[in-house]
Amino acid sequence: MSASTLSPRARLAEMIRDARRIVVFTGAGVSTESGIPDFRSPGGVWSKMKPIYFQDFVAREDQRREAWNRVFSGTAGWTGRAPNAGHFAVARLVAQGKASTVITQNVDNLHQDSGIPASQVIELHGNASYATCLSCGLRHEFDEFREGFLERGEIPVCRDCGEIVKSATISFGQSMPEGPMERAREETLAADLFLVLGSSLVVYPAAGFPTMAKEAGAKLVIVNREATDQDPLADLVVHDEIGPVMAAVVPAS
Ligand code: ZN
Repeated sequence: MSASTLSPRARLAEMIRDARRIVVFTGAGVSTESGIPDFRSPGGVWSKMKPIYFQDFVAREDQRREAWNRVFSGTAGWTGRAPNAGHFAVARLVAQGKASTVITQNVDNLHQDSGIPASQVIELHGNASYATCLSCGLRHEFDEFREGFLERGEIPVCRDCGEIVKSATISFGQSMPEGPMERAREETLAADLFLVLGSSLVVYPAAGFPTMAKEAGAKLVIVNREATDQDPLADLVVHDEIGPVMAAVVPAS
């Protein structure tokens, strides 16, 4: 049977079987199936509340207070959900040694929650499930601050240096994180199959990775509910739900 007569799922399964080093690139579409809204879509977070720019967070106490209000009220809905079939299928690819890394635009920690070691998840937009000190970088868990903030209105500061602490997401007005961007480039260039799951591929520089992979000789697959501008570049495009597709092509053994 020639490749063209195979179904998209069968072709994807074949491409995964033949690949030696897959890099999985994920966007909001992977997590919408877990009930996390796509923050860019109509009805998403940014249509309901104003983003707090990084510069304002640093400069203004009222903005920090508002940001922490959002964290502890769960307004943004970025965390607190469970991984779905798509996350677990990706975790199997990593556990099998097929995928070297997951590069994600998501901040929900669901790839780690699905069992992938944090060292194999490259987060381009940070992580909304914990906080870091803006001065010394020390990690803090939200639970350290919950009672002080909710009961006494204390705005979190670093337990080590006393400086400003912020959720570990990359905010509007904040530059892309250099370390993760560099690692993502290296992984992309080393991949022989670049698998995009649930990203509309419109937010740059993140959306530049598929082209980078193609130019370096990798095969490109895009699985997304809707068409993307980069579909014409891809060796295979699957317009479908991510969880069911990935569960079918990477079955649990
Ligand atoms: Zn500190």
